[in-house]
Amino acid sequence: ELDFSGRRVTVVGLGVSGLPAARVLYDLGAEVTVVNGGDGERERAQAAELQGWAAGRTPAAGPGGGSGRITVRLGDGDTLPEGTELVVTTPGWKPSSPIFAAAERAGVPVWGDVELAWRLREKDPAKPPAPWLVVTGTNGKTTTVRMLASILTAAGLRTAAVGNIGVSLLDAVLGEETYDVLAVELSSYQLHWAPSVRAHSAAVLNLAPDHLDWHGSMAAYGADKGRAYEGNRIACVYNAADPATEDLVRAADVEEGCRAIGFTLGTPGPSQLGVVEGILVDRAFVPDRHKQAQELAEVSDVNPPAPHNIANALAAAALARAFGVGPAAVRDGLRAFRPDAHRIAHVADVAGVAYVDDSKATNTHATEASLAAYPSVVWIAGGLAKGAVFDELVAGAAQRLRGAVLMGADRALIREALARHAPDVPVVDLDRTDTGAMAAAVREATRLAGPGDTVLLAPACASMDMFVNYNARGDAFAAAVRELAAGEGAEP
Ligand code: ADP
Repeated sequence: ELDFSGRRVTVVGLGVSGLPAARVLYDLGAEVTVVNGGDGERERAQAAELQGWAAGRTPAAGPGGGSGRITVRLGDGDTLPEGTELVVTTPGWKPSSPIFAAAERAGVPVWGDVELAWRLREKDPAKPPAPWLVVTGTNGKTTTVRMLASILTAAGLRTAAVGNIGVSLLDAVLGEETYDVLAVELSSYQLHWAPSVRAHSAAVLNLAPDHLDWHGSMAAYGADKGRAYEGNRIACVYNAADPATEDLVRAADVEEGCRAIGFTLGTPGPSQLGVVEGILVDRAFVPDRHKQAQELAEVSDVNPPAPHNIANALAAAALARAFGVGPAAVRDGLRAFRPDAHRIAHVADVAGVAYVDDSKATNTHATEASLAAYPSVVWIAGGLAKGAVFDELVAGAAQRLRGAVLMGADRALIREALARHAPDVPVVDLDRTDTGAMAAAVREATRLAGPGDTVLLAPACASMDMFVNYNARGDAFAAAVRELAAGEGAEP
């Protein structure tokens, strides 16, 4: 039912996805109530801005009438407003929040903004809906979705990378632009509230414990990720090295003829993409029966060619191939791809030491991948651990560690893990959380490093104890490295 005029819709949460949802619903003629628990200065300003925006517009008046009202209720995000017919929620709200229990009791459906976008994609009869190629997983989503968009663009398709990467799906679906296909990043939160999304094809990159406080358990987290496969038409792309992702494919209810396609860093089996002698090859989408495998690109076309990133490239290639993209476009798209800042970004070489910024490695699973990409590492780590345990990470990386420099609120947890599993590795414990700490960390790391080593910022922790966000943390690292390079007279 796409007629929203006069319908009473409650939007749960202000913010980056709540505000666009409220605006879209208002324009469709709904009677919108936005509820939000917090009622600080920021929320009041957002509410005033939203109401000012609505005052200047007349919503579409459909058969239901459409009163053209937006009400904002601050200070109570728990009770369901009287007469609510639909709840549209945003990722910040845990499924265990009382308002959802109230909605269930009242028989009121709950949609996320992604569900709303999915339902509205057919709204404009003049604009055929673009199929969705969906990417989810614990780590590598943004990188993979950008690689995918780059490949699709190289194939001459009109596309965009949208979703959890910060581009609202509502904007992509309802905006002026026409797309042939969308490269969609979905978080587990978004998938939880998107029951009717049906992708052309989807990839779950990997599955490691994360956000368990939101989902309640690992099983619930996995089930939400697995939603990405539900109803897929052409391909479910899984990680052959992560059996949990293949289990999700098996559990999914897909369209007849939809195939399970694996990706591996080793030699691919039938229906897989993999790597043979430095070449990315496809054994899944090979139209010529006599041909064993289709060569796609060289490992060196992947930027940067770290193992986990080659896996991301294979997943992106699998989705593009499922959409019918030829091998040359896969290669060209991978070559044209530039990683986002703070994701294994090479900052400079100084006196034979490489300095790499992976500030985006905010959990142990991501950090494990970036430590594995370098044979001899001086590791800069620490921050807010979010309940993480570091033993496995440190034990696995011990052979590669030439030294470690620790900072931030929870650095003791990493120091203790190092003492248990890598007692010979020299550790500098920077007992400071001020803004100058990063420059000190770079100096200490430089002291511990020798030619051929990599100084790697891969904190395995969130940044908010010391920085505004991971971008600021990475910027502080890069600035300290540039200063060092200028002092050495080296080329950055
Ligand atoms: P996401 O969008 O899922 O957070 P990103 O592409 O932004 O993922 O990458 C986040 C971090 O995760 C990177 O800085 C890197 O350290 C790590 N990472 C990227 N791809 C993978 C992967 N396939 N497996 C494990 N870690 C990865």
